[in-house]
Amino acid sequence: MNFDSLFQDQLNTLKDEGNYRVFAELERSCGKFPLAGNHQNGEVRDVTVWCSNDYLGMGQNQVVIDAMCEAVKRTGTGAGGTRNISGTNHDHLLLERELADLHNKEAALLFTSGYVSNWAALSTLGSRLKDCIILSDSGNHASMIEGIRHSRAQRVIWEHNDVADLEAKLQALPANAPKIIAFESVYSMDGDIAPIREIVEVAEKYGAMTYLDEVHAVGLYGPRGGGIAEQEGLMDRITLIEGTLGKAYGVVGGFITGSDALCDFIRSFASGFIFTTALPPAVAAAARTSIAHLKESNIERQRQREQVAKLRAGLDRAGIPHLMNDSHIIPVMIKDPVKTKMLADYLMDEWGIYVQPINYPTVPKGTERLRFTPSPLHSDADIDHLVAALTSLWKQCAIAHAVA
Ligand SMILES: *Cc1c(COP(=O)(O)O)cnc(C)c1O
Repeated sequence: MNFDSLFQDQLNTLKDEGNYRVFAELERSCGKFPLAGNHQNGEVRDVTVWCSNDYLGMGQNQVVIDAMCEAVKRTGTGAGGTRNISGTNHDHLLLERELADLHNKEAALLFTSGYVSNWAALSTLGSRLKDCIILSDSGNHASMIEGIRHSRAQRVIWEHNDVADLEAKLQALPANAPKIIAFESVYSMDGDIAPIREIVEVAEKYGAMTYLDEVHAVGLYGPRGGGIAEQEGLMDRITLIEGTLGKAYGVVGGFITGSDALCDFIRSFASGFIFTTALPPAVAAAARTSIAHLKESNIERQRQREQVAKLRAGLDRAGIPHLMNDSHIIPVMIKDPVKTKMLADYLMDEWGIYVQPINYPTVPKGTERLRFTPSPLHSDADIDHLVAALTSLWKQCAIAHAVA
């Protein structure tokens, strides 16, 4: 058997479709964000990163860096074990308390990533609750989809953000089966926001549990960074809030928050929580510091919102279409994988602008895009430079269209 040729066949298909992924090799440089070195053909060149999920630049924030350095010197590098066998450190518990407080819940549980937290929590809930039915928004993230699939529970997919469809589907299900409504607050690729209040009302009407992924909202929305549910005053009506420490908080890790019983249940039964080495205590200390900082400080969020508004206004003036939404995510739709990659390559090579082309399966085929995420650290000059680059590209495309 020539396994490599089997691998290569499938890789070639990806390449033919334009869906083969090329990673930009970056070298982040502390204090310089959104600038980063880009390694290409043995050379390094500074580029402006326009697609980072380090939304507020907290990954290079001095208080977070200090917390991590202090904790590494105090505790060493690794946790020393799984949470069950010698790996639970004081810093983990401090972080879990900080997280429970962030969402005003009784308890929180830490995971090695947001992906793992969704996968582990949903697969445990779906497999352990007898006759459980999971109602999943059609736009949900891969980590939720995989968790639900792994649970083997009955799965009902409702139309994205469509509460009437959700209710119709709830109505058709057996009244006494346990039901979980799984959805996100800010959807990562379109940047649109779920009608959380209406979803909660329907959930309460049918006695369903709510499972909310606030990965793209924690740290960014709500007076203390508790997410969209905090902003809307709805945290206490959501059964389980899930989030990440790797995006706005600038570190790594994932979590769930909820009642004592819920968190104890996941802690006790979730394979993805139990059988893996705990995060380094220094990571926990850094994340806790970042969360605590963003509970008090609004400067980062305010400045981010200003820069988001400025980029949107610049694109509008230049006549460059972008998806409108109420979040910090600015998608410019190209709708073709080959063109999206070509534009991204051109921006990188000619303008020193790094934006990763977003293609299938991250987004549906035919909705390929460039996804811009302005941070508080992008300057007005950075924004002007990006708008100038896109304007020049759009002109060239118009000319190409005219000639073709
Ligand atoms: C990124 C992402 C996750 C996973 O979080 P990580 O901490 O990066 O593993 C979960 N849900 C959504 C919606 C995401 O975009």
